[in-house]
Amino acid sequence: MTVIKITDLEIFANHGVLKEENVLGQKFVLSVEIELPSAGTDRLEDTIDYGEVCVFAERFLMEKTYNLIEAAASDLAKRIMLKFPKAVRVSVEIKKPWAPVKMHVGCVSARAEALWHTAYISVGSNLGDRRQHVNRAKDELDENVFCRVVKTAPLIETKPVGYKDQNDFLNGCIELETLLGPLELLGLLHKIEDGDGRVRDIHWGPRTIDLDIVFYDNLILNSDELTIPHKEMKNRYFVLKPLSELAPYKIHPSDGRTVIDLLAETCNDGKEK
Ligand code: ATP
Ligand code: CA
Ligand code: CA
Repeated sequence: MTVIKITDLEIFANHGVLKEENVLGQKFVLSVEIELPSAGTDRLEDTIDYGEVCVFAERFLMEKTYNLIEAAASDLAKRIMLKFPKAVRVSVEIKKPWAPVKMHVGCVSARAEALWHTAYISVGSNLGDRRQHVNRAKDELDENVFCRVVKTAPLIETKPVGYKDQNDFLNGCIELETLLGPLELLGLLHKIEDGDGRVRDIHWGPRTIDLDIVFYDNLILNSDELTIPHKEMKNRYFVLKPLSELAPYKIHPSDGRTVIDLLAETCNDGKEK
């Protein structure tokens, strides 16, 4: 692994919450670290042009206006990943030496990192043209610049679970590579669901499309908005069966069992018709 480091590139731009910051602008000091897989070869084709990175970063920060330097750092790190595909990890730090605080302070800074993550998205539909809803969701994920669909599982038809008085479901699973963080990914899934007319009235009720994050790398997360791995996945045949087509030997990070073991041991809820 090699790390290319650019330190303290000065850029005059217009980020900040205060109106004065947006209008007058101020100095930002940028540092970027780019991790490359090459083990120190002496070949130009194994590396990236750091001059190009500087020009790209400067243009990015001058063309846009962010309220928060953490958002600017996070977006810029992702954009560098996309622009320089040899990079396996990018870290961006933005310092604000003239931050508007009425005290003596060296600088205020924010740091963000970007790398490709693998997420498994469980997909379900039981209203209208179910196959079309599922395909639309897959296409919209793939069209997002920070996501790429790697594989999809064959769809299965299952009986509803929980609230039984509704149509049968089509269920599938998508293996996704993404630069988005878990909450950003959840936001995108909600946007796709809402855009496809998802109405949330009955809990576990009928839906045009439901997109749940089953796994995100080996992350274990328990927050009010988001639980990863999905908290019901172990009990759901309709999640585990499609998932097992894509990642049979993936280990549940807190349970320790593989997906096929979980599938073998799950109850019959929502089994195929
Ligand atoms: P279930 O979560 O039991 O499958 P559901 O999918 O019908 O039920 P939704 O109404 O789609 O429930 O989602 C309710 C909330 O669940 C979402 O707004 C989201 O904040 C939260 N949530 C928690 N963990 C996850 C996850 N891993 N994937 C998607 N949503 C999640
Ligand atoms: Ca769900
Ligand atoms: Ca859901």
